[in-house]
Amino acid sequence: MRHGGCQCGAVRYQAAGEPLHHALCHCNDCRASAGAPAVAWIAFPESAVRVTQGETATYEGRNGARRQFCPRCGTGLFYTNAEVLPGLVDVQSATLDSAAEDAPQAHIQVAERLPWMERLDALPEFARYPGGPG
Ligand SMILES: [Zn+2]
Ligand SMILES: [Zn+2]
Repeated sequence: MRHGGCQCGAVRYQAAGEPLHHALCHCNDCRASAGAPAVAWIAFPESAVRVTQGETATYEGRNGARRQFCPRCGTGLFYTNAEVLPGLVDVQSATLDSAAEDAPQAHIQVAERLPWMERLDALPEFARYPGGPG
């Protein structure tokens, strides 16, 4: 059983059993929704995911997309789409308590990827902010 929740803690959820797939999505919709260059999604059968505390708000996007988020802190949590992904719920995997252990297995929608996202490994790295205290 995996557990997760939003940044403020108002919404908590659990996901039972094994995920169906886990991928980093580079599509325009995910980018616009998250305000981030990509979003990692881990998919479960709809029946496996249950909100255990609080309630989500829903943004109805285009083409049947429903994005659920915490109405208090705004953290994106779930994506469902009865037309495109019937019976599935995609969970924003960075909201899992086990995010560090649950690594995505693929990049998807790279046709819409920001060009510079292809070469992230070429960027210099800093353990903290550059020039700041260690
Ligand atoms: Zn919250
Ligand atoms: Zn996407």
